[in-house]
Amino acid sequence: MRGDARPKADAGRQGNSEPHRLRDANEHLEMSVPKFGRLMRLVGRALLLRCPNCGGGPVQESWFRMRESCGDCGRPLERGEPDYFIGGMMFNLVLSELLFAALFVAVLVFLWPAVPWDGIQVGAPIGMAIAPILLYPISKLLWLAFDLAFRPDRER
Ligand SMILES: [Zn+2]
Repeated sequence: MRGDARPKADAGRQGNSEPHRLRDANEHLEMSVPKFGRLMRLVGRALLLRCPNCGGGPVQESWFRMRESCGDCGRPLERGEPDYFIGGMMFNLVLSELLFAALFVAVLVFLWPAVPWDGIQVGAPIGMAIAPILLYPISKLLWLAFDLAFRPDRER
């Protein structure tokens, strides 16, 4: 009688636990979808130039140089992967472009129809050259924030 019960239970388990098996199979990717609140908390800390992990600091030695680890929680500020900075550069470019687009639209909306086109023609390229420098540390911390949100430290 007991022998009969086991195959049934196995059959039920296989049918019901398919999502679990898929999740287990992908566990080596170590990715997870963060809760919105957690993502916003990490991003907010990065925007304030604080450690995305603990909200403390300091995280910078100078504007262009990050500390190796957070001065508060001691968490390394990079993941030690060879291409890690590429993500930060991507955030830097995207932020610069978004800032330009936002300012451009704001100027158009508030000054229309007397838009200072000559000023925009000069100011926009200068702004686009300065923005990546101004946003440099923020973009590196934002990259770390998103990385921590989607790939939390599990094994460390
Ligand atoms: Zn920290």
